Amino acid sequence: MRRGDSKSFTNDEKCFYETSALRFGLWLKAYDICQKIETINNLMENEKVIYFDNNATSRTAPEVTEEMLPFFGEFYGNPSSMHFFGGGVQKPLDLARARVAALLGAMPEEIIFTSCGTESDSTALWSAARAFPDRKHIIITKVEHPAVTNTAKFLESQGWRVTHLQVDGDGRLNLEDLKAALTPDTALVSMMWANNETGVIFPVEEAARITHAKGAMFHTDAVQAAGKLPISLKDAKIDMLSISGHKLHAPKGIGAFYLKKGSRFMPFMMGGHQESGRRAGTENVPYIIGLGKAAELAALNLEKENTHVKGLRDRLEQGLSKAIKNTRINGLGAERLPNTVNISFEYVEGESILIMLSEKGICASSGSACTSGSLEPSHVIRSMGVPQTYAQGSIRFSLSVYNTVDEVDYVIKELPPIIERLRVISPFAEDKPLFGMDACQMHNH
Ligand code: PLP
Repeated sequence: MRRGDSKSFTNDEKCFYETSALRFGLWLKAYDICQKIETINNLMENEKVIYFDNNATSRTAPEVTEEMLPFFGEFYGNPSSMHFFGGGVQKPLDLARARVAALLGAMPEEIIFTSCGTESDSTALWSAARAFPDRKHIIITKVEHPAVTNTAKFLESQGWRVTHLQVDGDGRLNLEDLKAALTPDTALVSMMWANNETGVIFPVEEAARITHAKGAMFHTDAVQAAGKLPISLKDAKIDMLSISGHKLHAPKGIGAFYLKKGSRFMPFMMGGHQESGRRAGTENVPYIIGLGKAAELAALNLEKENTHVKGLRDRLEQGLSKAIKNTRINGLGAERLPNTVNISFEYVEGESILIMLSEKGICASSGSACTSGSLEPSHVIRSMGVPQTYAQGSIRFSLSVYNTVDEVDYVIKELPPIIERLRVISPFAEDKPLFGMDACQMHNH
């Protein structure tokens, strides 16, 4: 048959061609997936992976995976079912709830499982906004995660007033600013426990007391704090708290929301009666089990965070500051998480550092985000007033209990030549005495 000739196909022929096309499409997809898996395998087998990006996401602990697996297979029942098979899943769920509660020093009935930290944060803001319909004011800080800032922004567009508390050069808050901002109209104060970019810790327990004295509710985003700092909510005035599984060695896609017993609450998700009517939707059983196990491990590892992880963090900071001139550790003067280093290198650009580190198998993050073609420092770094020449070159290393001294020493060896090369080609560094003794000494520790 020549091109242009028309031929009508029988139903059998049509079916044959359609099936073949579908098969070919599926084959291509499968081939593509195999290629990707092979790339990842090669990376894992042949190259070092130095993972220093645990504030972005953390490795699922093998103990966690092991405990989750039976709930994908043999124990697939729905905990809401009346029969023994579904109902049998309820007990492991109760255990997971108790383990998360123990990590937070809370009661099991105060824990609500969610899909992630973002859902928990949204739940807090939406709940307070609707539970206090006559109060139209919310207070957050300038350095919150987008899960809080963007929800607050939306509420602002719907008529709420939002006050953003400023931070100082080390990323610290002044609680006098909070006192001054609270009004009889304030429904909620939402203040993160620890900052994801700098690790700077906020005095949330004191802030919650101040907030309660004015009759408003207090929420804290503890996504980065949980598992890294001791938390005891029993006697705290904190009404609501968010955590996320994948920051503490559980998988992505599971979170928890703490709601103090007796606090006002309006559900974010509506539907069935799961989670005692506070969060509808059939429970993600395997992931809840995983979060429970991760919480148990995190509680056991808390001491290690303050010894092993903090030791590695200090070694990394000191090693880099000694080897590279014109560096600045952001938040150095503040109380910080034991695992986070936010470091700026003058006259270089964060993304270039990350790409070159990545080529060496080192995974870190940038403190800056790409905004409409121009490389803008992150809102956290900008809020701290980090000088522009440093702000662009900010990167974050976030460690975990799985990291080693050898890995830290590898970074201390590989990073200085990268910065040196970037400074040589940096248009900003022209005519600047960057490598001389008279270079800016601002924060060179
Ligand atoms: N809050 C903070 C401080 C975070 O660092 C993150 C994630 O990076 C979130 C909230 C959002 O958590 P999730 O990724 O589970 O939605």
